[in-house]
Amino acid sequence: MDYDSKLSRQVRDLPRSGIRDFFELVIGRTDVISLGVGEPDKPTPWPIRDAAIKSLERGQTSYTSNLGLESLRIAISDYVDQLFHVRYDPKTEILVTVGVSEALDIAFRAVLNPGDEVIYHEPCYVSYSPSIKMAYGVPVIVNTREENEFAILAEDIEKVITPKSRVLVLNFPTNPTGGIMPPEELEKVAALAVKHDLLVFTDEIYCELLYDGRTHKSIVEFPGMRERTVLLHGFSKAFAMTGWRLGYACAPAPLREAMMKVHQYCMLCAPIMSQVAGLEALKLGASAYEDMRVSYEERRNLIVARLNAMGLHCFNPGGAFYVFPDIRSTGLTSKEFALGLLESKSVAVVPGTAFGTAGEGFVRCCYATAPDLIAKAMDLMEEFVAEVRARKTTSKTPALANA
Ligand code: PMP
Repeated sequence: MDYDSKLSRQVRDLPRSGIRDFFELVIGRTDVISLGVGEPDKPTPWPIRDAAIKSLERGQTSYTSNLGLESLRIAISDYVDQLFHVRYDPKTEILVTVGVSEALDIAFRAVLNPGDEVIYHEPCYVSYSPSIKMAYGVPVIVNTREENEFAILAEDIEKVITPKSRVLVLNFPTNPTGGIMPPEELEKVAALAVKHDLLVFTDEIYCELLYDGRTHKSIVEFPGMRERTVLLHGFSKAFAMTGWRLGYACAPAPLREAMMKVHQYCMLCAPIMSQVAGLEALKLGASAYEDMRVSYEERRNLIVARLNAMGLHCFNPGGAFYVFPDIRSTGLTSKEFALGLLESKSVAVVPGTAFGTAGEGFVRCCYATAPDLIAKAMDLMEEFVAEVRARKTTSKTPALANA
């Protein structure tokens, strides 16, 4: 059968995730040190797991309200207020979702009409462009640059705004660069959103993971922003809960209501045991993740120092758990570097191009990995870089020798 002709054009034309594609190469290999998939190396803190186990023992295996457990929405409201100084009504403005992934998908589907433009920054998380396309929107990319520490500039956003611009998507700290937004620039971006009447989706999934004593400021905190912002957050990263598939969206009631309609038909509700676990996570708050955050900061210091020492220029990211070293000095493309490193040294990193064309010349390393493994991976990468550089020199030598 000609299955191609049976598929939705929208889906057929989507690329597969560059991260997953790359990691098919790694699956089943026990010899590989992976700095690849972006997830914490530690399991979910025990009290959170225990709460879920106890709920199963009590027989809590039913659906919940489409919106999510009310107790969890109340806890989310308090937690979000604590983080962002913005209060959302648990009854009308909060929706519990299956991760930030689902929250993003239903947010796009709730607001976009075919042809509406969505502005976002690249390099960025792999799902933004496909999620926009699946909602019949048009992705509009603003490249961020290392010289600006991968922050998005208001002047660059303004250049791409058209009458069709509907949504601006922000993610700071950013996957894959670890970039953060200076508050003065964020303020300019907020003013732009108000001026051009844009909705803003802010993906706050890494907001707890900040280093060097930084504190987080979200765009929702600026004047005129609460009414036009959909705030997306979840439990995967800070609470080390990737496998529980739990997140949430906070938004003004009409937007939350539209998202809820999509959610109730495609998902019904997030799993009850995950919601119970999430409630426990929020009860613990920062005490559940502060040790992990401190250890990520130490690992960031280690990996940034090692990369720079081997001549791979690496900007010191202020948040998340990724570094994005510049590998152009090796003369290899991102893909050649990642494949070569995997083949010759069994170390897995992700080519920067998996996060958009602006990622060419960079690779992403996730440092939520044990420090001894990071050190070993860095030893191997240093060998690889030295070998590549030596090859580059010898390939030039014959000409010199003849001279
Ligand atoms: N947004 C960003 C920026 C991410 O990095 C990720 C996961 N890597 C997600 C969203 C999806 O997170 P979740 O597990 O909550 O679906």
